[in-house]
Amino acid sequence: MFEYAPAPESRDIVDIRPSYGLFINGEWVEPQGEGRHKTVNPATEEVLAEVAWAGEADVDRAVQAAAKAFPVWSAMPGAERAKYLFRIARIIQERARELAVLETLDNGKPIRESRDVDLPLVAAHFFYYAGWADKLAHAGFGPDPRPLGVAGQVIPWNFPLLMLAWKIAPALACGNTVVLKPAETTPLTALAFADICRQADLPPGVVNIVTGAGETGAALVNHPGVDKVAFTGSTEVGRLIARSLAGTRKKLTLELGGKAANIVFEDAPLDQAVEGIVNGIFFNQGHVCCAGSRLLVQESIAADLLEALKRRLGTLRLGDPLDKNTDIGAINSAEQLAKIRELSEAGEAEGAERWSPACPIPERGYWFPPTVFTGVAQSHRIAREEIFGPVLSVLTFRTPAEAVEKANNTPYGLSAGVWTEKGSRMLWMASRLRAGVVWSNTFNRFDPASPFGGYKESGYGREGGRHGLEAYLAV
Ligand code: NDP
Repeated sequence: MFEYAPAPESRDIVDIRPSYGLFINGEWVEPQGEGRHKTVNPATEEVLAEVAWAGEADVDRAVQAAAKAFPVWSAMPGAERAKYLFRIARIIQERARELAVLETLDNGKPIRESRDVDLPLVAAHFFYYAGWADKLAHAGFGPDPRPLGVAGQVIPWNFPLLMLAWKIAPALACGNTVVLKPAETTPLTALAFADICRQADLPPGVVNIVTGAGETGAALVNHPGVDKVAFTGSTEVGRLIARSLAGTRKKLTLELGGKAANIVFEDAPLDQAVEGIVNGIFFNQGHVCCAGSRLLVQESIAADLLEALKRRLGTLRLGDPLDKNTDIGAINSAEQLAKIRELSEAGEAEGAERWSPACPIPERGYWFPPTVFTGVAQSHRIAREEIFGPVLSVLTFRTPAEAVEKANNTPYGLSAGVWTEKGSRMLWMASRLRAGVVWSNTFNRFDPASPFGGYKESGYGREGGRHGLEAYLAV
């Protein structure tokens, strides 16, 4: 293997302010309380900016602004709303490089991913839902589907701007107004999006962004003026929200955790499967709710596949996320790193065999090497719990029925992958796997036209595609 010279993307293109307020009613406003938190670059631990901490009074102000904007926005003809969404999509494309660098600085993900995956998908979501705004009467939800009102949206830190797009684009297309809370550790691209709303001349109050931590999210979802709640995050918080909303009139969609099986049959093209396994669990450092964190490999090819996988993992580059050659970036926070370490240690303690390629770790920042566990039993914590990091658990199977049994042996049901040459086997498997998305001979593919969502403890409701409109319409 030859070495690459460093190829860092310049950060000069982004202009990070030292301190940010809240974006309410089309204006930057200061929070009523004194609270602020710092957001850091997880690759260097450098403080990037100070961000306001919205309290209940601030959330109330944002919800009221959204409620005031709703009659105007919802009464606007769909074709007019579409113009704003198309404009936002085009501005995102124009500012894509800046937003990709900002996302990488705040989140730690490799620039190659924020530039080539996140940002194109963000723009595609706005383009896609812009196209629906004037066709809602033909979407299969009756001749005159109505928006719900104010949507309270809470998103996580793993795909900050992409999760914002998944939430805001369909909500606005359907005529709702929104208050969105980004995650505490990754607020910067949502705040940049606030500027994009101003640049697009979006009417004041249609989009409001309130920053803060869990309490801010709780204040938002529990606010009586919110008509619809959309949440992506952990199953634990999803449960809390479901409990607190039970019995209210609020409509709720939950996109929660996962423990996906990536299933490789002996007839699969091995080299392609190795790439799919790597993409499945090491993309975005494994901070992916639908990550293929359990590899189920047919016993007859397990040794060959593992050898090829380990060889491939030896070529992954971990380091500076702004370097265009980097494959594995930083772990998003010290808390997440501690969680990954704790579960990996539990894996060893329970008897699984741990392996990582030789891989220098930078001195500052939060890092975890790509890790593979073999000899994993279904009862091990690393086979049951969502690790949300670059850690793969390998199990084997002999028959398709056994593969289905093991794949479904989880409280989650978000995604699965099937690698086989036979179309009939793929369909046989797909009809038996309890997972919202089943990929065949690929993994972690996203498209705005395709619905995404879970079964069981992975949540309910669908985002994306025509189905994603339903969550924002009174149907
Ligand atoms: P959380 O579920 O805690 O966070 C998701 C979002 O919800 C954040 O914006 C968070 O705010 C907010 N939030 C936290 N508590 C509440 C509440 N009571 N009411 C309303 N909103 C709330 O996930 P974490 O970031 O803590 O990650 C923990 C674990 O969750 C990860 O290790 C991973 O396993 C899983 N996870 C799954 C994701 C998925 O896509 N399925 C995404 C992210 C995490 P804030 O972050 O500011 O505290």
